[in-house]
Amino acid sequence: MYIYADNAATTKMGDAAIDVMTKCMHEVYGNPSSLHSVGQKAAEVLQKAREEIAEVLGADFHEIYFTSGGSEADNQAIRSAALFGAKKGKKHLISTKIEHHAVLHTLNKLEKEGFEVTLLDVAENGIVRPEDVAAAIREDTALVTVMYANNEIGTLQPINEIAEICREKKVIFHTDAVQAVGHVPINVHEQKIDMLSLSAHKFKGPKGIGVLYVKKGVPLFNLIEGGAQERGRRAGTENLPAIVGMAAALKEAVAHMEENAKKVGALRDKLIRGLSEIEHSRLNGDAVKRLPGNVNFCFEGIEGESLLLLLDARGIAASSGSACTSGSLDPSHVLLAIGLPHEVAHGSLRLSINEENTEEEIDYMIKAIPEVVDYLRNISPVWEKLTKGETPHVI
Ligand SMILES: *Cc1c(COP(=O)(O)O)cnc(C)c1O
Repeated sequence: MYIYADNAATTKMGDAAIDVMTKCMHEVYGNPSSLHSVGQKAAEVLQKAREEIAEVLGADFHEIYFTSGGSEADNQAIRSAALFGAKKGKKHLISTKIEHHAVLHTLNKLEKEGFEVTLLDVAENGIVRPEDVAAAIREDTALVTVMYANNEIGTLQPINEIAEICREKKVIFHTDAVQAVGHVPINVHEQKIDMLSLSAHKFKGPKGIGVLYVKKGVPLFNLIEGGAQERGRRAGTENLPAIVGMAAALKEAVAHMEENAKKVGALRDKLIRGLSEIEHSRLNGDAVKRLPGNVNFCFEGIEGESLLLLLDARGIAASSGSACTSGSLDPSHVLLAIGLPHEVAHGSLRLSINEENTEEEIDYMIKAIPEVVDYLRNISPVWEKLTKGETPHVI
């Protein structure tokens, strides 16, 4: 048995996407910008996918911009709002300490370019307080960007309240919804969201394709110069097979969202109950306001990387945080932001499941993970000090 429990890093593509992509690659090879009928056929297919995605999100098709994925969409949304803000003398940007690096690194760069950035703290459960957002907004605030759901600890943020505050104060509100789209219900118009990023490979679509939704009337600056694709806001020949694959995967995910969330949520809760039995362990994130497929634990006295390697050998693909930070020895900025000490943040495990996972797999993980944790603790000098009482337990 090999269990894939790293769906927050990426998902295995579903048949819905693979089937339409294969057909598209065989049959629709034209460039949508060409005037001949082969090109116009491609333009029609592109338009249909744009309309389908807009409908699922509760947007207008004019508000959908295709990008190379979530990172590009985040970069473009933030840079664009910063640039247009600066033109009006607004050089203050607000975000949180638990954002994805696509957001945090863009904000860091902008800070070096002369913008002022406020990164809000989150509560111990990983949730942003809307009143903190309201208090941070100033006359010169150009943008508030808060992620919809966190990629490490799965917390769902109070997006409606934050969006309402921003609309009232006339500040642009962007949300990185890469972990949320296809997993929880979203309607951008009803929820007063001005900009939203999504990425197809997080909901069983292809990698390297995403969307930036931008509400009508919100100006958008292009990162990539060239042709007039995406109404001049994103140059480059459209990746049509990926775009139709994304549309199909999104429609499929949304059509089965309720049943999937119910099934996956029940598996998640069983897994959480099982792993909570491990002594000196801690569930990170909120127990209720959480993505259906996210489980994130810290185990005292062990190191995340060794845990991952041993789990892989036992047939479990997991992660120690975000895919981008594993491989570096820095503890997760998200776990530090919810108040965990460095040594505890190092021993974290993220299991992200979806509807492809089975109850049998959950049972296997509930048996195998405590055994691996035990094994590592037995050879850990840190654990020895903890059990001898030389250093105090933190969890
Ligand atoms: C995966 C992810 C991204 C990056 O998306 P890519 O399509 O891989 O560039 C951005 N934000 C969050 C929250 C993510 O989980």
